[in-house]
Amino acid sequence: MNIQYTPTTCPYCGCGCGFNLVSVDGKLKGVEPWKRNPVNEGKLCPKGNFSYEFVHREDRLTTPLIKKGGEFVEATWDEALDLVASKLGEIKDTNPEALAFLSSARCTNEENYLMQKLVRAVIGTHNIDHCARLCHGPTVAGLAQTFGSGAMTNSLESVAHADCIFIIGSNTLEQHPLMWRRVLQAKAKGAKLIVADPRFTPSAKKADLYLPFKSGTDVALMNAMMNVIISEGLEDKEFIENRTKNFEELKAVVMKYPPEKVADITEASADLIKEAARMYAKADNAAIIYSMGITQHTTGTDNVMSTSNLAMITGNLGRPGTGVNPLRGQNNVQGACDMGALPVVYPGYQKVIEGEMAEKMMTAWGCGDLTCRPGLTVIEMMNAADAGDIKGMYIMGENPMVSDPDIKHVKEGLESLDFLVVQDIFLTETAELADVVLPATSWAEKDGTFTSTERRVQYIRKAVDAPGEARSDWSIICDIAKKMGSDLFNYDSPQDIFEEVRTVTPQYAGMNKERLEKPEALHWPCPDEEHPGTPILWGEKCATPDGLGVLMPIEFIPPAELTDEEYPFTLTTGRMLFHWHTGSMTRRSKTLDREVPTGFVEINTEDAAELGIKNKELVRVKTRRGEIEIGAKVTPDIMKGIIFIPFHFVECAANTLTQSFALDPAAKMPEFKVSAASIEKME
Ligand code: SF4
Repeated sequence: MNIQYTPTTCPYCGCGCGFNLVSVDGKLKGVEPWKRNPVNEGKLCPKGNFSYEFVHREDRLTTPLIKKGGEFVEATWDEALDLVASKLGEIKDTNPEALAFLSSARCTNEENYLMQKLVRAVIGTHNIDHCARLCHGPTVAGLAQTFGSGAMTNSLESVAHADCIFIIGSNTLEQHPLMWRRVLQAKAKGAKLIVADPRFTPSAKKADLYLPFKSGTDVALMNAMMNVIISEGLEDKEFIENRTKNFEELKAVVMKYPPEKVADITEASADLIKEAARMYAKADNAAIIYSMGITQHTTGTDNVMSTSNLAMITGNLGRPGTGVNPLRGQNNVQGACDMGALPVVYPGYQKVIEGEMAEKMMTAWGCGDLTCRPGLTVIEMMNAADAGDIKGMYIMGENPMVSDPDIKHVKEGLESLDFLVVQDIFLTETAELADVVLPATSWAEKDGTFTSTERRVQYIRKAVDAPGEARSDWSIICDIAKKMGSDLFNYDSPQDIFEEVRTVTPQYAGMNKERLEKPEALHWPCPDEEHPGTPILWGEKCATPDGLGVLMPIEFIPPAELTDEEYPFTLTTGRMLFHWHTGSMTRRSKTLDREVPTGFVEINTEDAAELGIKNKELVRVKTRRGEIEIGAKVTPDIMKGIIFIPFHFVECAANTLTQSFALDPAAKMPEFKVSAASIEKME
C-alpha cells in the first residue's frame, strides 16, 4: 500500500487554509492537518475537511466533447483543439473584439496568467474578465481610489489583535470560518464585536452589538457612524492631518447624516448607530471586515470607500488589529485579479489604457501591437452576446448559468453565440450549452499557486493523477495558442510560467520557489528577493501618488430597484457554510450535500404569518426577471420585509430573480443584494 501526504491549499474560500491530501495507491482518501501552516494551524472547516470527496466522482469529464446535431460526442484532443483554434481564429480574423473570455478564480495564478496572455497577445483584445466582477470588483475599484491599491490591508492573523471588530456585509462564521477563528481569538482577549446585517446570522449572534439595517443602505449607515465620531470629537486628528486628504469635504457630507435621520433610511436604531460608532472609534485597534454584502450593490464601490473613510478618520490603518479587510470568496479570486484576468489591467494592476504599459508588455512577451482599448466586463459580455456583437466565448472554470444575475438573460446571450467553448471538470449547466467541452484537472491533480484573500501566495501540489484524458488548464491554453500560430507559449511546468509572472508583476517579483515552499509562503507586495513580503499594508504611507489616503465624500443613493405594491419584499442572496458558489463541487461532495441538499427562502416569522406561510412549505418567489418554487424557512432571524435565498442551488436558482440592468458605475457590479420581490403560497 502506497500512502502519500501532499501538502496543499484548500480549493474553496479565500482564507487559503493549508492541509495534507492523503492518497492511498493513487486515490484520495481524506485530509490531514498541516499544523505548521500559519493560516489555519491545522484547523479546517467542513468544506476543507471534505474537499477531496468530489475529485474521483464518476461524472468527472474525462474526454473532450464536441456537440454534433445537438448531442455531445467524444473527440480526441487533436480534433477538439483544432476545432477551437480554427473557430477562434476565424472570428479573430474578422474582429478580435467579437471574442470574449472568462478566466477562473478556481484556477491557479499560472493558468489565469496564461489565459490573459492568450487573450491579449494572441487574440488581440482585452475582453477578459472573471467572477471577481461579481464579488469584489468594487473592492478593487474602491480601495484603489482610497488607498491606491485594491486588496485586503491586513493579514488574517492580524485580526486576532483587534480591540474592536466591525463586521458589515459578511456572515464570516459561515463564509470564512478560519477568519472567524481569528475573530474569536480577538474576542477571547476582550475585543468587542459589532455586526451590521439585515439577518441575525450565526456571526451576528456572537456580537456584543448587533445592528440590524436594511439592505442597500450601507453608505447612509456608515455616514451616520462617522457623523457621531466627528460630532463627539472621536476622530484621530493626527492621523487625518498627516496621513489623509479631503477631510473637510468628507465632514461636510457626513454631517448631513445624523443618526436620527439615518434611522429612517436604514431602519436601524439611532441609539445603536451611536453606540456602534463609539465602540469602534474608542478602540485602540479596530478592524473592519466585509464581504459581498458590501460589494454586491450598484453602490458597491461607494460602500467600499465608506469602509475606508471610517478606518482612516479613526486612524485604524497600517497596524496589527486594524485595517479594511475584504474577504474574497473564491480560493484564487485575489490571484486571478493580480494576474490581470480583468479587462482593464495587465498583471500587477498595470493599466491597459496606458501606452507605456502596452510597450512594456510587448517587450516582455515579444508580441505584436497590444490595444489600449479596455475590454468588456462579464455583464457587458453577456449583453453584447445577446446583441450579436460577441460571436464567440471561451469560459474556463466558471458557471455563469448559476452564478450570474438574471439567468434567463445569460442563457439567451450564450445561445446567441456562434461558438462557445467551456473548459471545466464537470459538465456544468454552462458546459451543457457549449459547442466544445474541454476536460480539465481539479486542484488536487496539478501544481501551481493560489493567492489568498490576505495576499498570501501559496503552492498547491499534485496529489493524484487526473481521470481519463483530462488535462491541466495551463497545458490546454498553451496548445490552443500554439495551434493558433503563437510561439510565445513554450512552458514546461507551472513553475516555468511563474518565473515569467515574476518578471511582469512587480508585486510578485521577489517570490522565488525556495521562499514560497516555506509553510508561511509570502504576502505581496514582495518586490525583490530580499524583501520579507508585506502582511500589513499602508504602515507608513498609502500607494497613492502622494502617499496620502483619500477620504471620499459619498452621498447615499438608494438601490436601483425599490419595493412596490406588486413586489413588496427586498430579496437578498448569499452563501452558507456547507456550500460554495455554484455548487458544482460541494454538491458533488456526499458529506456536504447531505448537510444541506437544497435551497430555501428565509422569511420573517411575522411576514410569514401574515401571508399564511408555514415553515418548510413550498412557496413561489417572483421578481420582474422570473420566478422560482422553493421551500420556506420561517425565522425571526431576518428583518421584516427582507427575504434571503442562498445562491448555490440550480433547481431553485436565486439568480433567476436577480437583475443585471443596473450596474455599479465604477466596477460594473450588478445589484445581487437588492431585488424587489413577491412571495406567495403555492396553490
Ligand atoms: Fe477551506 Fe475556507 Fe474552510 Fe479554510 S475556511 S478550510 S480555506 S473553505
